[in-house]
Amino acid sequence: MERTFIAVKPDGVQRGLVGEVIRRFEAKGFTLVGLKLLQVSKDLAEQHYGEHQEKPFFPGLVAFITSGPVVAMVWEGKGVVAAARKMIGATNPLNSEPGTLRGDYGIDIGRNIIHGSDAVETAQREIGLWFQSEELASWEPSLSSWIYE
Ligand code: UDP
Ligand code: MG
Repeated sequence: MERTFIAVKPDGVQRGLVGEVIRRFEAKGFTLVGLKLLQVSKDLAEQHYGEHQEKPFFPGLVAFITSGPVVAMVWEGKGVVAAARKMIGATNPLNSEPGTLRGDYGIDIGRNIIHGSDAVETAQREIGLWFQSEELASWEPSLSSWIYE
């Protein structure tokens, strides 16, 4: 089953949106297989956002993501990587559709609430970066047959 890495960024945590993020993913029918709150180190932030190393916003992004606690999660389900990106919305919250997390709760691109892996391979890399394998639980919700045909 496909898995994706989701993180509620420091602005989302400070604004009390952790529960809303979890609620939406649960309500959709995805399965939570990993969850922790942590203060992100500079090293982890730089590795996570490595693809953006040369971008002008990189130092500010690393400073922001390490500025307060982050809630890191792994969600599982059919098509979860792409579905999560749709639920999250466009990178710039002013361009995110209403009904998406960024569209409903954000304004500035540097305060866009939440991260979600952009592809299956990215998700595998990010899950490995943020979680030890023993921190992830493989379980089948008893509701499965009411969610999948
Ligand atoms: N970001 C920013 N300024 C920009 C572009 C991106 O602060 O001009 C931040 C923003 O928090 C974004 C993150 O860098 O979520 C990673 O950028 P990416 O293009 O990968 O967007 P995402 O995959 O998060 O939608
Ligand atoms: Mg990205």
